[in-house]
Order: sequence, then structure tokens, then C-alpha cells
Amino acid sequence: MKRLAILGSTGSIGAQTLDVVRALPGHFQVVALSGGRNLELLRQQVEEFRPLLAYSPVEGAAAALAGAGVRISPLEEIVTNGRVDLVVMAISGSPALSPTLAALRAGKTVALASKEALVMAGALVMREAREHGVQLLPVDSEHSAIWQCIQGEVGRDEIAKVHLTASGGAFRDLSREQLEQVTPEEALRHPTWRMGRKVTIDSATLMNKGLEVIEAHWLFDLPFDRIDVVMHRESIVHSLVEFVDGSVKAQLGVPDMRLPIQYALTYPSRLPNEELPRLDLASMGPLTFNDVELGRYPCLRLALEAARAGGTATTVLNAADEVAVERFLAGDIAFLDIPRLVERVLAQHQPVAGPELETILEADAWARAQARKAI
Ligand code: MG
Repeated sequence: MKRLAILGSTGSIGAQTLDVVRALPGHFQVVALSGGRNLELLRQQVEEFRPLLAYSPVEGAAAALAGAGVRISPLEEIVTNGRVDLVVMAISGSPALSPTLAALRAGKTVALASKEALVMAGALVMREAREHGVQLLPVDSEHSAIWQCIQGEVGRDEIAKVHLTASGGAFRDLSREQLEQVTPEEALRHPTWRMGRKVTIDSATLMNKGLEVIEAHWLFDLPFDRIDVVMHRESIVHSLVEFVDGSVKAQLGVPDMRLPIQYALTYPSRLPNEELPRLDLASMGPLTFNDVELGRYPCLRLALEAARAGGTATTVLNAADEVAVERFLAGDIAFLDIPRLVERVLAQHQPVAGPELETILEADAWARAQARKAI
């Protein structure tokens, strides 16, 4: 039995993690759950999975969860608790950073769905993992694909390139004129994946793919010139690894986040799961691959520029994007204002190389303030 702490259990990845746990009885014990603002869903999850510990930022959470025999604990206490073997980090956005660092320092294996922790503070997160001998397990589908492809391979020097696939998101067929008019509701309709709101908007701007390039750089210790993005509308090939001898391995599957989640939970084993859809090769239709037009996706260009600038540049990129997406979802700015805002904040920033946590948090707060001011 692996004993799990699931942080962000009421979000899309968290709920799908519980789907996997439910489908594989006898393999996992849920020791702790932490939710977001949806206290009612957290209460239902607590009743069903009976964890020892829970956390909710909502006022009155202790009273709402009182009947279930669960102890309300801060996130720090949850991720360092002796009964936890594996922390599933599925908190959306920058709030994931501090509990991720705490889990690594406590020597806990972390299944990381929150790419923002690596975008904000990749060097720091990877250093903590190394120093405490902890493995970071990818949950993001592209990174899970790369991870699956390199199982049994000898080393990073044998990887010529990784190719991250991008679906293109909700607006891949729209003209620039049409993009001026799109609404949050339209942006939230992803053609192939079921995901949270922030990542769905990031998919439409392709910022998500930029964040994933940065995530891959840290997770697999690869320089940026060995990470490529290719457009693949069908989201069947989840990413590819090209080796130095020219051989290419890909991981395929139906686009369903439960698959990469389950691989991280059961790693290094694989388990049958009746609930998961199967890929039917004969009926899936043709698979297409195209170059990404950077001119069409300014957010991807900005992310790649920030990645090359390094240091706090990616922290600022992430913070400005979080504010921009939040304001777009609230109806305060237009879709095409997202890259404009991010670009403006990045242009004002002087990146600091090799930042420690304090500098990272300062850069994050500065970027948020600048972004809000610019609106
Ligand atoms: Mg992804």
C-alpha cells in the first residue's frame, strides 16, 4: 500500500487522482487531502476516503469536516507527516512552490502536476530533490511520455532531442481578427483534454507549452536547444524522444490525464485499470504533425525568451501570466492582452541569476504588482 497525500484534491488533477485510487482498490491509502475553495467537494472526498489529515483555506473548514474524524493540518505538516510516502502535488499555480519544497526537504517522493513550481524556482526545486535524494515524478502528460520513453536508456547524453507535442488549444484554427473577440467561455473549451481553467487558457495561448519546455529542461536536465515543440492536433502522441543514433521513441494513448497520473502513482510498476480508455489504432484516424508558427503564439515566444534569459525571468513570466489569465477569465482584459501584459512586465525586469527563495518570492510579488498596475 502506498500512502498518499493529495494536495489540490478538489481540482481537476486531484479529482482524477482519486478516480485512479478508486479504480485500484488495495493499492493506495489516502492519508491526507487538501482542497481549494470547493469545501463541499472536499467534505465528500474526506467522507469517502477517510484520511487522517486534511487542509482547506476556507473559513469554517474545521467545523464542516469535524464529523469525519479528520485532523485539520497546515500543508507543511501534511507533506512532512511520517505516514506519507508519496505527495501528489496538484495545487494550481504558484501556491504549489512552498509545499513542494517542504515535501522534498522531508525526503518525500513527489508526483508533480504543478509545473509552476519548476517554472518559478526550477534550480532550487531540483537542488532540494538532489540533496535529499528524492525523485520528482512527472504527471504532466508530455513529461510522463518522455519519462516513459527513457526508461531503460542509459543516460541523458544519449538523448539528441525531446519533442513536446502541442494540441494548439481551443483557438488553433482562428485568425488574428477572430482572436480579438474570443470570450473566456470559448477559451475554456479545449478540443482534446479535460483540465483546470488556468491550464486550459494557457493551452489556448500556448503559454502552457512554453512552461512545459521549462519544466522539461529542469526535470530531464536538458539544455533548451535539445527541447523542441511540434504541433500535433490529435493529442494521441504525448511526446517523443529522439536518441543520438536517430531512433525515435514515442508514447501514445487516449488523451486522458488519469493515465499519466496512474503511471506516477504505480511507478515503477504498471497496473491494469478497467476504467481507462484504450487506444484503438485502426479507428483513431490519421495523426498529423506540424511546425509551430512562433509568430502566431507570442506567449510561447515569450516563454522561450524567458527560459533563455534564466534566473528570475521565468518566475516573472509565470507571475505575470497568472495575473493576466485571472483577469482574462474575469472579463477585464481581452485574450490578446494576455501576451501583451506578460511582455510588458518581462521588459521591465532585470533577471537575477541563481536566485534563492527570497529573491524568487520578491520577483514573483514584483511581477504581480507590475501586471496589476499595467491593467
Ligand atoms: Mg501538459
